[in-house]
Amino acid sequence: MEKTVSIIGGGLAGCECALFLADHGVKVKLYEIKPIKYTPAHHSESLAELVCSNSLKSNDIYGNACGLLKEEMRILGSSLIKIADQTKVPAGNALAVNREEFSTRVTNLVKSNTNIEVIAKEVTSLDDFDGHLVVATGPLTTDDLAKSIFAVTGQKMFFFDAAAPIISADSIDMESAFVGDRWDKGNGDHINCPMNKEEYEKFLTELLSANRAEQKDFENSSVFEGCMPVEVMASRGVDTLRFGPLKPAGLTDPKTGRWPYACLQLRREDKDGQMYNLVGFQTNLLWGEQKRVFGLIPALKNAEYYRYGVMHKNSYIRSPGILSADFSLIKNDKIFFAGQITGVEGYVESMASGLLVAINILLHFANKPSLELDNTTVLGALSNYIATPSPDFQPMNANFGILKNIEMVKKDKALKKRLQAERSLEVVKEIKKYLDETI
Ligand SMILES: Cc1cc2nc3c(=O)[nH]c(=O)nc-3n(C[C@H](O)[C@H](O)[C@H](O)COP(=O)(O)OP(=O)(O)OC[C@H]3O[C@@H](n4cnc5c(N)ncnc54)[C@H](O)[C@@H]3O)c2cc1C
Repeated sequence: MEKTVSIIGGGLAGCECALFLADHGVKVKLYEIKPIKYTPAHHSESLAELVCSNSLKSNDIYGNACGLLKEEMRILGSSLIKIADQTKVPAGNALAVNREEFSTRVTNLVKSNTNIEVIAKEVTSLDDFDGHLVVATGPLTTDDLAKSIFAVTGQKMFFFDAAAPIISADSIDMESAFVGDRWDKGNGDHINCPMNKEEYEKFLTELLSANRAEQKDFENSSVFEGCMPVEVMASRGVDTLRFGPLKPAGLTDPKTGRWPYACLQLRREDKDGQMYNLVGFQTNLLWGEQKRVFGLIPALKNAEYYRYGVMHKNSYIRSPGILSADFSLIKNDKIFFAGQITGVEGYVESMASGLLVAINILLHFANKPSLELDNTTVLGALSNYIATPSPDFQPMNANFGILKNIEMVKKDKALKKRLQAERSLEVVKEIKKYLDETI
């Protein structure tokens, strides 16, 4: 019997998935709304459009989780990373591409593949499909389809208005910070970053004058009202932040025995305490400005950012409880989701989920179970992240904080990352061997 798969969305996840399936003999129908209609961020007729930056982030395999993720994908045979490598432009340690050339090459590869039929159409309902289906319509999924997804998943698509940055625990200057919960109520899951009056005033001045990311019209709509960026809150009055995210009340600094003048709380993000969230610091500042301005808080002067604060319209499924770690619906294992809509965040992460979905569908066709990955690899860590219940589920980038820890006798961050990366690549090579024999 002919193996066929329908994919909705010819973006990064959809194209990666389509090419991998087609190269393994599967017939793919790829539905893409362009060029009939464009979402507010898409402009080009090409598939796999990079809507904003041309950077696929770091290429450092042993020191950066996104670099490691790309290498994992290269080993498994990712078409999009291969094209990114072929279209790269000089950008130091990063893999930046010529965006037009990248999208054009992906489009040509997809359209010249005799196993793929590209259909220009706005899909409005999941009910129109049977058989294996992949939904890869991204953070700007059109409204009618979003309603249909809601009907199938029983879950509202969440708006991700503004997110606070996440930093590495190792990079917090504990000489300037102290551990403790407000009014001593809690389990010590917070690190507090105090500021004196002078430090607070300097911070406020720089925050108010810092450069912000350009807003598109669609990003100014009222849906963002509920989650105010820290710089907007700061503009409402000199002391507004001291009654908001920098409230010192109930936080006694053990060094002084008193509440500080202002204090930022960092909340633990993960079980192992490798990542901390700058609570209430959702922001629209440019990334470099976040590092500069937030670095004026003494405890954050050397902060290393796992995820910068971002602000834009972003629909995604609250995946835990809805999707399995193989990205299929728990209640219908023939319907898969891929890309940013699943709660992975970023270009490469979206491609990676498309690749995993293709692999898992091919395993289904071979009557084998989906890949069961632990958090040793970035691919596994991302897929487990989207399937693991969490009270405050938000999209996640590739980062070392979600990778399985390695206990080190002596603190050596660089060595730890190298060992984590080496371990991951060994596992991915084994997976590749298994897949070569199986699909
Ligand atoms: C404004 C914005 C800027 C971003 N900037 C960056 C960045 O700089 N770096 C980064 O790493 N990540 C960025 N992201 C996040 C994310 O990495 C990208 O959105 C990425 O393109 C997601 O890949 P995807 O395959 O999930 O979705 P997309 O690449 O958006 O692909 C989805 C495709 O589905 C199509 N589609 C939508 N609805 C329908 C429908 N009903 N029927 C048929 N087709 C449909 C769309 O036209 C699109 O081609 C940004 C996101 C947004 C919204």
